[in-house]
Amino acid sequence: MLFRECPRCRSGDEMVIHALRNCPKAQSVLVVGGFNNRLFTKEYEFCIDWLEDSMRLFDRKAFEDFTTILWNIWNDRNNAILGGVPRDCKWEKPSEGVAKVNVDASVKENRVGLGIILRDSYGFVLCGRAIFIDKAANSK
Ligand SMILES: [Zn+2]
Repeated sequence: MLFRECPRCRSGDEMVIHALRNCPKAQSVLVVGGFNNRLFTKEYEFCIDWLEDSMRLFDRKAFEDFTTILWNIWNDRNNAILGGVPRDCKWEKPSEGVAKVNVDASVKENRVGLGIILRDSYGFVLCGRAIFIDKAANSK
């Protein structure tokens, strides 16, 4: 979660749900990317709830495209805030003709979210995937 004013639209607290969904900049990118207002009909407090509902709304390919666009929105936001200057860790592009996979995960109570992204030697996102695991549901 992020809690400060959104640097792009200057609206209230910038939480992840704002950065990826509610910010007018993010909504413009999603609409141009072909993701219409079915994504914007319901209010969400947490981004993970919106992502889970989106998984039910789209088929696999559309959801992969959706997560790729979200990744690009997040990178664009970070570049706007940081002026393209990386913080502590620096992602390095793979060699020409090679793709690189990055993985990140988060855990909250019994739910696990896993994000996977594939980028080419220019840093362009080729595809992405998000996986959610509910440990409580899996233990029954
Ligand atoms: Zn904003």
